[in-house]
Amino acid sequence: SAPLPTDLEIANAATLRPLSDVAAELGIRDEHLEPYGRDVAKIDLAVLDEPAPAHLAKYVVVTAVTPTPLGEGKTTTSVGLAQALRRLDKRAVVALRQPSMGPTFGIKGGAAGGGYSQVVPMERLNLHLTGDFHAVTSAHNLLAAMIDNHLHHGNALGIDVRNITWRRVLDVNDRALRNVVIGLGARQDGLARETGFDITAASEVMVLLTLSTSLRDLRARLGRIVIGYTTQGKSVTAEELHAAGAMAAILEDALKPNLLQTLEGGPAIIHCGPFGNIATGTSSVTADLIAMRGSDYAITEAGFGADMGAERFFDVKCRVSGLKPDVAVVVATVRALKTHSGRYAVRAGKPLPSGMLEERPKDVEAGLPNLRKHIEIVRRFGVQPVVAINAFPDDHESEHAVIRRYCNTLGVRSAVTRHVAEGGAGALELAQVVIEAAHEPTAFEFLYPLDLPLEQKIEAIATQVYGADGIDVSPAAARALKDYERLGYGGLPVVIAKTHLSISSDPSLRGAPRGWRMPVREVRAAVGAGYVYAICGDMRTMPGLPTSPNAERIDITEDGSVTGLS
Ligand code: ADP
Ligand code: MG
Repeated sequence: SAPLPTDLEIANAATLRPLSDVAAELGIRDEHLEPYGRDVAKIDLAVLDEPAPAHLAKYVVVTAVTPTPLGEGKTTTSVGLAQALRRLDKRAVVALRQPSMGPTFGIKGGAAGGGYSQVVPMERLNLHLTGDFHAVTSAHNLLAAMIDNHLHHGNALGIDVRNITWRRVLDVNDRALRNVVIGLGARQDGLARETGFDITAASEVMVLLTLSTSLRDLRARLGRIVIGYTTQGKSVTAEELHAAGAMAAILEDALKPNLLQTLEGGPAIIHCGPFGNIATGTSSVTADLIAMRGSDYAITEAGFGADMGAERFFDVKCRVSGLKPDVAVVVATVRALKTHSGRYAVRAGKPLPSGMLEERPKDVEAGLPNLRKHIEIVRRFGVQPVVAINAFPDDHESEHAVIRRYCNTLGVRSAVTRHVAEGGAGALELAQVVIEAAHEPTAFEFLYPLDLPLEQKIEAIATQVYGADGIDVSPAAARALKDYERLGYGGLPVVIAKTHLSISSDPSLRGAPRGWRMPVREVRAAVGAGYVYAICGDMRTMPGLPTSPNAERIDITEDGSVTGLS
């Protein structure tokens, strides 16, 4: 078959519906739409004050097997599924994260879906959108500036200069900013100290925005942000620095979800973009609350595989929103399962390993334990799994058949989906099985109760979700956990920051690793966002650019069209 046009070509050729028609489909009136230029609008949170409809939507989360560094197609599948459901005359809305500009100019390129399953306008989505990331950057760095100003003017709160956890952020992949010294120069230039930059997606403000349910909640969470500790080991908050009010003022518009549309004219809500490793990796609670009221099917994506994204979606995001998921779509690809055979190594920015595109159903079969584990994870939470076999152009029928047969033996619905090549028309079978699964009874439950001690929550995720034999907590992490219980953070849920390239904490282990223990090197608290996170692996919170960054291929024509975005 002929190769597809590029994502940007397909997006640019699309005819967009008037946004107020798209909003009307979601039950949103013009008075609640705040247009941002053409084809993008913010949704006023006042829509959540209106009486809720008698029936909320079915809530569908899109997750995946353990991905390769290339990504297996959760975003494209989310968009394709929403498009297919609309073709079956269902009201369907997709709620997704906003792409971060760091990776856009790095390896990944645009992140608005792909082929005939995209969110448009694509350029706007990938570059700035409505400025929410800038607002997060500004709010975050205002707090950083107020910390250093506080130190400069005498440090009345007694902040321990060597125990400040609040860094600075920018939405750019710049490894040279990971570690910096600030305050050099004369006395009036501030106190010299070491700090560093993270990418904006890794800001606690980003995930806090994601988890806030209202302006009041946002304001309260900002106040609870802990920026560091005094020499006596007491926490210091953004409230004590009198920074939280101004931060909330900066973020007022950013709290409102953004309305765009799919290539087929259905509603797409794009909101927030927290990192998948140290944060929740989900789009916002407010976006989902709006989606659930205005549709039959609300589809949202959770980052990485089900071990990471879906677990946090269930245990952190759903706990905040109070929403109960019905279906988890587990995206599986031939190339990911072949990788889990242990016979291939896929690297970002490199051609696929030789032989991977050949017809080798035995290699797919050897990777199936990874799929089984992700299905078990979904079932552990009482949610209905559906396997979406995301078809790539070089796949072979026999390889899809291996996955389908296996799903049948596990009693799991599955469908091959061709939404990238064919749009919603290519995902009709997937939509059909999602509808069936959504009407099965559910018994959603969290993995752990909040009153379990922090260490036991970490252990529950490691053993019951990842399949570890146990956890090994470093002395420093054990001390911090004790401090957190003493400081009153013991009732928070936990997020585990580990590699996304394995279900274990060792990125080199494929399939469904057994017989391993999870080392907990360090723990940190995101008290404002509302969780404690355990660092179980090498964590990069400021990515670097590759040898040939995507930015080198991006340009603009004389008439103002962007080229090379994807
Ligand atoms: P994820 O959300 O799981 O990270 P994406 O949906 O962003 O994955 O897809 C990762 C990359 O693979 C994107 O560049 C996307 O366009 C591409 N892709 C996804 N599915 C397909 C497919 N079926 N055929 C071709 N390319 C695809
Ligand atoms: Mg994605």
